This record gives sequence, C-alpha cells and structure tokens, in this order.
Amino acid sequence: MACQRNEELQELLNEAKKVANEGKVASYIPALQRENPDTLSCAIAYPDGQCISAGDIQKNFTLQSISKIITLALVLMDYGSEHVFHKVGMEPTGDPFNSIIKLETSSQAKPLNPMINAGALSVTSMIKGKDATEKVEYILDFVRKLCHDPEITYCKDVAISEFTTSFLNRSLCYYMKGAGVIHGNVEEIMEVYTKQCAISMNCLQLAIIGAVFAGDGICPVTQEEVIPKNVARICKTFMVTCGMYNASGEFAIKIGVPAKSGVSGGIMCAVPGRFGIGIFGPPLNEIGNSHTGMRLLELFQEKYDLSMF
Ligand code: GLN
Repeated sequence: MACQRNEELQELLNEAKKVANEGKVASYIPALQRENPDTLSCAIAYPDGQCISAGDIQKNFTLQSISKIITLALVLMDYGSEHVFHKVGMEPTGDPFNSIIKLETSSQAKPLNPMINAGALSVTSMIKGKDATEKVEYILDFVRKLCHDPEITYCKDVAISEFTTSFLNRSLCYYMKGAGVIHGNVEEIMEVYTKQCAISMNCLQLAIIGAVFAGDGICPVTQEEVIPKNVARICKTFMVTCGMYNASGEFAIKIGVPAKSGVSGGIMCAVPGRFGIGIFGPPLNEIGNSHTGMRLLELFQEKYDLSMF
C-alpha cells in the first residue's frame, strides 16, 4: 500500500512530541530501552486502500501487548467463542496488565480478560501447532495475511530479552496451570508468547491491521475477508473495554475508539467504518501507554472528532 506523507498530520505529530520528556521508555524488557524517546510516527489506513502518514514510517517496533488482539482473533476463529471464553473471561479488571491478584481472589482462577497478561497467556496456550516453532509460524502467517506482507517476522533480540527476564509472566502461567486453567508446557507457552510479543512491524503495517478490524474483517489492500465479522466485533469490544490497560475507561471518554497499546510504545486504533491508525511513540506514561501517542490521539479527537460515542 502506497502511503502519502501528510503535512497536517506532521504538524499534529510535532505538537504531540512536545510531551516526549514527560514519559519513560520501557526498561523491564531490557531490549526495549534502546528506543529513542523522540521517535514518533503515525499512519492512517483507509478501507479503500488509501493511506496517509507522518514521521519515520520505515521504523520497526515490536507489537508487545498489541499481539494479544491478534492471537485472540486467531483462537476465536479456530475454536469459537464458547470454547475460548471457557478459559478466559470478558470483564475489565482495573488492575495493571501484569497483575496476579485477581487470579487468586476471583472465584475461579480464570483470567478476567484476554488483554491482561494472564488472559493473553491463556489465549497463547490455545494456539495450534505441534511445538513452539509451528505455533509461532502459525501466528506469523496470520499477521502476514492481516497486513498483506509476507516478510513480517519477530525480532530475536527482543524475544530473547523478554524470555530470559519474564519471571512474572512465568508465575502467572504456573498459577493458572496449578489451578487447571491452562495445560501444556509453561516454557513452550512462554517461548510462543515472547515471540508473538516481539513481532516487528512499522506503523503503516499496524494501521492496515487496524483498518481490518475497523472494516469488520476486510483487508483494505485486497478487499478480502481475513477475519469473520463476528470475531472482529468481539476484538473491537475488548479493545474498548480493556485495550488500554487500566486506563481504558479514561481512554473511552477522552478518545472513544477501539484501541490496543503495547509497552514498546505502539498503539493500534480501529475506528469503526472509518480507518485504522498505527502509532509508534516509545515514551510511556505510568500505566504503560505511549505518552506521545496518547497526546497525538487527543489532538486527533479534537480535530477529527474520532469518538464513536
Ligand atoms: N511482552 C510484554 C509483557 O508481557 C507485553 C506487555 C505490554 O505490552 N503491556 O510484559
């Protein structure tokens, strides 16, 4: 998809960059802390295949938690919602994305939703394949189809960096395994999860995936259905209720569109029936959402009336 640089968008980007020094690049995954806090790029992909952009849209970043919406779509397509929601709930938590507390205090150890780490790990444990390699390839093939790019892959450095330091996520897995919520080998689940989080792309490719969800599952490049409408609808609903971690309520009020963020600084929005947005801005606020990305979306909301509410 060819993307036109857009001056108006660039001006909004320049404005949003002014708050870059108020955020902090993620460092708990060591490989992420190398990012430059001044980087900010954005692309908007329309359902008819048009696209506008600003900033360095060649710059790749890892999906991190944005991958959770993709694996959710995949397991919903493979198993149907009844099976999936037997292993993961539908309710927002109000807790940080990596919290373990609700696993212990809610009546079943089933994670409350697929957008928190516990829920995403449960989703990853359902991915089809005989071993980690096959499962990762299966996820990658789906992502390649979503953004219509056969070259998409994961960043080995970031995957290893997280795999070797991710003790909290291992604890979530072992807790859920102990409670009979997930089955299988925890190290294998961790390998698949850290590789799915390390899938690397630029903001144009992310905007195209956003446009697939915005357009009820239709790829804006090929006009083919790549996700059933019902699955796209469920994913967008989770993006509204839980996509921006424990700031999802505030985000719904201030911006009002389905969105999913990741600690790399990526944000994907799916503005229903209108367009997909891909943003990359590494400095994060204290909740773990891109600080410059959030500022940019506030400016979009003021200027283009994004909110669907
Ligand atoms: N890979 C990250 C983790 O599990 C993803 C978290 C995120 O982006 N919020 O900690």
